[in-house]
Amino acid sequence: MTANRPVISIVAPVYNEEPILHELYCRISATMDGLGESWELVLINDGSFDRSLEIMRELHAADGRVRIVNFSRNFGHQLAITAGLDYAQGDAVVIIDADLQDPPSVIAEMVKKWREGYEVVYAVRSQRKGETWFKLFTASLFYRLINGITGVNIPVDTGDFRLLDRRAVLALRTVREHHRFMRGLAVWIGFKQIGIEYVREERFAGETKYPFRKMLRFALDGITSFSHLPLQLATYLGFIIAGFSVLGILITIILRLSGSQAFYGQASTLVAVLFIGGIQLISLGIVGEYLGRIYNEVKARPLYIVRDAIGFEPQPQIVGIVQPEIDPSLR
Ligand code: UDP
Ligand code: MG
Repeated sequence: MTANRPVISIVAPVYNEEPILHELYCRISATMDGLGESWELVLINDGSFDRSLEIMRELHAADGRVRIVNFSRNFGHQLAITAGLDYAQGDAVVIIDADLQDPPSVIAEMVKKWREGYEVVYAVRSQRKGETWFKLFTASLFYRLINGITGVNIPVDTGDFRLLDRRAVLALRTVREHHRFMRGLAVWIGFKQIGIEYVREERFAGETKYPFRKMLRFALDGITSFSHLPLQLATYLGFIIAGFSVLGILITIILRLSGSQAFYGQASTLVAVLFIGGIQLISLGIVGEYLGRIYNEVKARPLYIVRDAIGFEPQPQIVGIVQPEIDPSLR
């Protein structure tokens, strides 16, 4: 353990959050100073095109504990969090949304649990304020679906707001997949985990950076990175439809032998062909989803590119490719 390493790192991804950054800093510093632990605030600028970076630089100039990882472009929320975990140096790292939907005051309770010996403390939303019914409905559906079909038990109504002990952080650093679903990976790594409840607030200012399209992609990443079930769906459907068609053949033969005129004509043929054609295309699409993800992983590009890392000491490794640090005590 180096002398100037903080005890607690707070990691917040920032994408065009100009109106909230000052307030974020004030609330985090009030909470953290109240705890009496040394801390750092690692802000990841995920390609913001408003004044976010400028404000971050001002915050850093006023307080050296604010550090900035500035991406070369927008890489997305999950990769911003990943970079935060790569750069954070604390004995515990707290991931928090920059928009103050996750109240910084909850961190005190997380730290308490960590001191009791828990290595991952995740925050469960007991109540969500200021969300549309559509978001609440799709989110609740999604968490139940993903738990139903995947091997990892992702706690319902849990986001990325959590505290991770350094051991857990080092474990997560070794996971370098591109289509990442951090809240799933945080469960997958294991360790001693516990949940605490909190009320998710309304966004402090600005608008959500997760439009429906992004949410859908995020959900697909979550499912495909933890489950093969969609791929097996084609097999199941194939068996079911084949079973029905055998039944259909038998019925048709019996009807013809008994001289019935039922099911004559092209309409029934056409419907059956279109139906099976649709199922085949959907199955092919599912295979395509997985294939596209495999393609992206095989290219093995860096997860994100860092333009500047401001305030870190010593300067982190090669820009863009952060080597997972292996803690000697874990070997
Ligand atoms: N965010 C990011 N990159 C993106 C989208 C979002 O870093 O491409 C950040 C955003 O600034 C915020 C957090 O991720 O701090 C969560 O985003 P948001 O609040 O828009 O999502 P919601 O709470 O509506 O699900
Ligand atoms: Mg938000």
